[in-house]
Amino acid sequence: MSHPLFDVTGRTALVTGSSRGIGLALARGLVQAGCAVMLNGRDPERLAAAAGELAEAGPGPVHTVPFDVTDAGSVTAGVARAEELAGPIDILVNNAGAQLRAPLQDFSDGDWHRLLDTNLTSAFLVGREVARRMLPRGHGKIVNVCSLQSEVVRPGIAPYAATKGALKMLTKGMCADWGPHGIQVNGLGPGYIATELTAPLRADERFDAWVRGRTPAGRWGRTEDLVGALLFLVSPASDFVGGQVLYVDGGMTSVL
Ligand code: NDP
Repeated sequence: MSHPLFDVTGRTALVTGSSRGIGLALARGLVQAGCAVMLNGRDPERLAAAAGELAEAGPGPVHTVPFDVTDAGSVTAGVARAEELAGPIDILVNNAGAQLRAPLQDFSDGDWHRLLDTNLTSAFLVGREVARRMLPRGHGKIVNVCSLQSEVVRPGIAPYAATKGALKMLTKGMCADWGPHGIQVNGLGPGYIATELTAPLRADERFDAWVRGRTPAGRWGRTEDLVGALLFLVSPASDFVGGQVLYVDGGMTSVL
């Protein structure tokens, strides 16, 4: 029997950017743990396919709520729709994100704003909308998916690191504002994880060797590697943990 401190059965969770990759794996973990899960992304067809994949994964029901996390109007409508479908949201995972790499001097205005919108403004918009609903209820768990790059930066990735570093501080600020009202906010910080987002990096032999060599665990992370940390952060086991980022990176943040 699993420990009651980790019991999240019957909770309702919204995971942004869960049509693939890390978000889909986190959603699968929540379904397996007995949560009702709402999948999000911009492409309804891809979301429907992801929901089909999760249908047999566990006891929890799966719904889809397509909306663009960078657009305030879509976020308001999307969160309302999510609560209509599955009831009050107990758990929000702000996972949607993008990565663009280029030396700063070559980085365009458009790409800068796209990254800020997708990685930072999204967490503010969805977090604010969900928190407005959680606050009167007096409870809720929010997890912002940060990054190894919330802590360290390498050449060619400064704008991404800036968004993820800021997301770490937004996480602490959400904890400061909403913690007193029963809403617990933390971050999850993946290291290098094999997903579509990192496919070009894994295809680059030198980069691949660098990741393996610099990660104490000696390998790329798998999306499933993140699930245990998420379940800790959304369960009663972490009730006195606030404003922290839990890095799941095979040890890389410690040695870079
Ligand atoms: P993927 O590119 O594989 O998936 C991104 C997800 O976000 C997709 O479901 C995508 O769906 C969704 N998404 C993107 N933009 C929007 C938007 N505007 N509105 C709604 N949904 C959106 O990325 P990963 O799974 O690799 O990454 C997930 C998170 O983890 C990101 O925040 C990323 O920064 C972070 N991370 C990833 C690491 C890695 O090594 N992979 C390392 C550290 C952090 P769609 O395009 O259909 O809208």
